[in-house]
Amino acid sequence: MDHVKFLKCLICAAEYQPDEADYVCPKHGEDGILDVQYHYDLISSRISPATLAEDRNNTMWRYKALLPVKPHSLEPPLTVGGTPLYKADRLALDLGIKHLWIKDEGREPSASFKDRASAVAVIKAQEQGAEIITTASTGNAGAALAALCASVGQKNVIFLPESAPPAKVAQLLVYGSSVIMVRGSYDDAFALCAQAAKEFGWYNRNTGYNPYMSEGKKTASYEICEQLNWEAPDRIFVSVGDGCIIGGIHKGLRDLLALGWISKMPKIMGVQAAGSAALYDAWEKGIKAIEMVPIMAHTVADSISAGLPADRIKALAAVRDSEGAFIKVSDEEILAAIPKLARGSGVFAEPAAAAAYAGLIKASQANLIHREEKVVVLATGSGLKDIASARKSVGEPIVVDRNLDEVKKALKKI
Ligand SMILES: *Cc1c(COP(=O)(O)O)cnc(C)c1O
Ligand SMILES: [Zn+2]
Repeated sequence: MDHVKFLKCLICAAEYQPDEADYVCPKHGEDGILDVQYHYDLISSRISPATLAEDRNNTMWRYKALLPVKPHSLEPPLTVGGTPLYKADRLALDLGIKHLWIKDEGREPSASFKDRASAVAVIKAQEQGAEIITTASTGNAGAALAALCASVGQKNVIFLPESAPPAKVAQLLVYGSSVIMVRGSYDDAFALCAQAAKEFGWYNRNTGYNPYMSEGKKTASYEICEQLNWEAPDRIFVSVGDGCIIGGIHKGLRDLLALGWISKMPKIMGVQAAGSAALYDAWEKGIKAIEMVPIMAHTVADSISAGLPADRIKALAAVRDSEGAFIKVSDEEILAAIPKLARGSGVFAEPAAAAAYAGLIKASQANLIHREEKVVVLATGSGLKDIASARKSVGEPIVVDRNLDEVKKALKKI
């Protein structure tokens, strides 16, 4: 890992070598989120847009030279990354903009964006020889870890809030994870998981604690820019719970700017559910990440329900430094966005993923977006993850007896 310079504490700027700090800054405990810093000159000598153009590996590992893993570490065999970026002209027309793309992360092996982070977690845990990996999760981070672990036979323990949607719980159990359901919120599950990891010496994948998770997630930014021929979009809409995805998106773009592969920083638009809008509030009121206090989070978009977003430092920096904005959307707006996105693009998103599109609708209604701008929306997870919520956003099918007259009657209603 000679391309990794050091890990830097985002509170006190202290620098640590990777073997000196496993997770957070020892001086700042759980708040002391670390950011991986790189030797870009060394990276430039190993990888470039030209070498990438020749590379047939279409997974996130095509960017391995930019990831904090040892060159000889074995990548898990599941195909993570390389998701499509669809041009969505009909949706763009509806919104009064010219250029819109949807990045479909529902196409990941466990059907959410979280696979990008969990793939890195599995490698880091194996580099350390960890016997067990653990994470707390609203569902998707767990499902991602479960899938990636299953692909290499790695034991894992997952902590979930009781409210997790059944499809996500099913994924964990099918993949053979040890599943611990906590009577409490995601934040409660997070705290308990952290305690257990310490007590039992498990490798801790938790978001906003493990510095390598946003590194895995940053690969989506590389893909977006490469898919747009290294012309960065003007805006990227990202739904935000803990803030790890948005922090990772920002990190990937900063890497590309430092390498000179793109020439501008897109405005990063963080979309939160109104019932779980701690980062929106902090941004609006100008509160610092380290001064934020927990709220009671409640939203239909379970994947973005977080009372005290674990990656709040990186999330606020993403929006502030890129001169983007936070937007909040109601549960009704989120549910309504599911069929809108699906019908206009063919991408079926779970509530948390559709929230990003709901945020774009809101931003365009508020005239925040110029017609000529190039806009990307991350669809972070598949709609099949939460059928019950999807069904709330659409009507019922028409049921008929087995005769054609009934079909004729039914067709009049459609
Ligand atoms: C986890 C998740 C998010 C939010 O990511 P954070 O890093 O928690 O902000 C958004 N959408 C989906 C589908 C997710 O699983
Ligand atoms: Zn520190």
